Amino acid sequence: QDERAAAQDKAAALEQLAAGVAHDFRNLLSVFLGYGGLLSRRTDIPADARKQARDIVTAAEQGAALAQGLMEFARPKVAPPSVLDLGTVIAEFQPILKAAAGSRHELRYSQPTEVGQVFIEKEQFTRLLLNLVLNAGEAMPEGGPIKIRLVPVKLTGNPSYLGRFVLLEVSDTGAGIDEETRRRMFEPFFTTKSKGTGLGLAIVRQVVDRVGGLIRVESAPGKGTTFRVFFPRVGASTGGTSLFPILPATEEP
Ligand code: ADP
Ligand code: MG
Repeated sequence: QDERAAAQDKAAALEQLAAGVAHDFRNLLSVFLGYGGLLSRRTDIPADARKQARDIVTAAEQGAALAQGLMEFARPKVAPPSVLDLGTVIAEFQPILKAAAGSRHELRYSQPTEVGQVFIEKEQFTRLLLNLVLNAGEAMPEGGPIKIRLVPVKLTGNPSYLGRFVLLEVSDTGAGIDEETRRRMFEPFFTTKSKGTGLGLAIVRQVVDRVGGLIRVESAPGKGTTFRVFFPRVGASTGGTSLFPILPATEEP
């Protein structure tokens, strides 16, 4: 688990550095966006200059997205968690998820039974879900279904994780994940996409670690990927009293 430790060190160092830089950087980019936008609309300059100005705007938008992601990663909002029914949260959040997934991707949500409650900050959960859904969509550029499933489960394999969990599954039928990517994908800034920030899964892992959950990934090249996130259920292991063990998320329960 050296890679994991290294990734965590990298993340900790970044949290310190990033918070300060990201904010200023984002403000500075507004100059590029503002003047670039103005230039791109001027009619008294050659067309190729307007095109160059548009390219500046596009790059600045990407930079702003990166800074935004970095800020969220470095300074996650630490609103107090509350006891939530994840099904209700997903239902509320569905319009935003649909918009984020885009018209090419059909979002299919299913929750066969009541799943119980989880102690988590709402925005942390929706951020996690949004990042998984965005990745699923991006894995299927030609379109395809994104499935979200919520089920109550009991893990029995590892004594550290005994108890009841709410399992969130996000599946796609996209390209799948190769070995190298699988090893590194939770690292901040690791991306295989030309316009990726590499922060999505770092944020996912951060949220999961905070609540003492765990993540498993199943992927078949060319067939698709399923991300499984296990959230500890409220009161599951102590018969009424809440217990939220702070355990590291791992890929193997
Ligand atoms: P980004 O999406 O900006 O690249 P992420 O941290 O969200 O950053 O993801 C890191 C990498 O993990 C992606 O670049 C991609 O290679 C891989 N990945 C994540 N989710 C999926 C998925 N559903 N299918 C295939 N690859 C994925
Ligand atoms: Mg992503």
